[in-house]
Amino acid sequence: MRLTDIDASVFFPGSQITTAFGWDPDPRFGPRVHHAVDRAGAGMVRLPFAAKRLDWKNADTVGNSVLRAFADPGIELRMLHFRPNERTPDLLNALRNGRGLPAGAPLAPAGDVGIGSGRHVHYQLMLDPECDWTELDKLVPGWTQDDKTDWLSRYGLAFALERSRRGIRWINTRALRRADPWTGMDRIIIDSATILGL
Ligand SMILES: [Zn+2]
Repeated sequence: MRLTDIDASVFFPGSQITTAFGWDPDPRFGPRVHHAVDRAGAGMVRLPFAAKRLDWKNADTVGNSVLRAFADPGIELRMLHFRPNERTPDLLNALRNGRGLPAGAPLAPAGDVGIGSGRHVHYQLMLDPECDWTELDKLVPGWTQDDKTDWLSRYGLAFALERSRRGIRWINTRALRRADPWTGMDRIIIDSATILGL
């Protein structure tokens, strides 16, 4: 799959971004690096690409429900906060049978399981740094540029703490690279809203 095959229009129609990717000064949860995008709205969240496999956990270490959708090469869309009892029959069947789902498949309405203020979907488009991302070189030239020194001078100690706590290797306004706390794997997380409209 190419990143540009992701169909942002089916993902969560009518929703609004409530927290963007990047520095989040909101004192309720931070200040912090929000390595994801949050969207809130009525209606159904749907898969924006054909997933070869899905994985569900009721709670991560801080109590967020976690749905992971995988596609080749090395692409994962991770979605947080769905309520277990609001998952669609399509999603439950796919999880039960270890199958994927086609693009556009309904997943669940945005939920409120875990950390957050009200219903929203927190989602991260995660990439395996070992794969070939020349597509992104064309879409976002210089997307792997390391701006962490600038972030440090702008946000000071708060950023230094975030960087060490989250294991951020490099960061700029469009992407960051860090150890995934869920798997321990080295991963790149991109600002899918700005880059792909997702
Ligand atoms: Zn979030």
